[in-house]
Amino acid sequence: MEKKVRVLVAKPGLDGHDRGALVIAQALRDEGMEVVYTGLRQTPAQIVNAAIQEDVDCIGLSCLSGAHNELFPEVVRLLRLEKADDILVVGGGVIPQEDIPFLESQGIARVFTPGTPSKECADFIRKHVKGKRMSFPEPPGKIAHIGIAVKSIDTALPFYTDKLGLSLLGREEVESEQVRIAFLGVGETRLELLEPLSDTSPIATFIAKRGEGIHHIAFDVDDIHARLARLKEDGVALINEEPKPGAHQAQVAFIHPKASGGVLYELCQYPVKNEEEQ
Ligand code: ZN
Repeated sequence: MEKKVRVLVAKPGLDGHDRGALVIAQALRDEGMEVVYTGLRQTPAQIVNAAIQEDVDCIGLSCLSGAHNELFPEVVRLLRLEKADDILVVGGGVIPQEDIPFLESQGIARVFTPGTPSKECADFIRKHVKGKRMSFPEPPGKIAHIGIAVKSIDTALPFYTDKLGLSLLGREEVESEQVRIAFLGVGETRLELLEPLSDTSPIATFIAKRGEGIHHIAFDVDDIHARLARLKEDGVALINEEPKPGAHQAQVAFIHPKASGGVLYELCQYPVKNEEEQ
């Protein structure tokens, strides 16, 4: 599951108006974030403590009192002191345009002026939240399988079964990829022997270019949509931006080998963790 972005909306300083802060808090909730509001008149130290305790990804500072040039940088400074500067800090409120470059130079990632659409604030926060708490999916837990391109399964198979003693778990044809597959079990992982069904098969192209051998490595993931979205956002070249059906009723997508030093990686999400299907 994609983790929700957690935001602390905080009001440093002495002004007693929190309608704007409450509005932005609600708007970020509507954008699917978890929002904690500190209440009025918090000191920078109180805000930083609350942010660490609440384990937030972002602090949104709102200030109307005019003291933003002292208070906002102080929050950033204390975060650094607490080694919590992976928390993104953004600001808003009544901030004169000419103060914004100074605030940004002090580590405020963005200052939103009144009237900025809340969607724009939310998009900015989502995109810039640092660390791995945000929508960064859990790392792949294991290698689902290793795909090996062969000209003929019947020719290649005896090495695996007779010489290595691996058991043949099954065979399958994936029409859309023009490929026939034999599955061999190695603990939790499988080897997949991939034989082209026709010259138009990507496996046929691969063998023609590079000969038989390792074709791809597949990671077992449980959040393929979120992961693809994140990779795309990070500028990683993808062969498939959307998952497509693969063998074993899995949803699969390939990362472009130019993003990964020439290795073709597949993301593979299985429908249910059913022992027989693994
Ligand atoms: Zn595969």
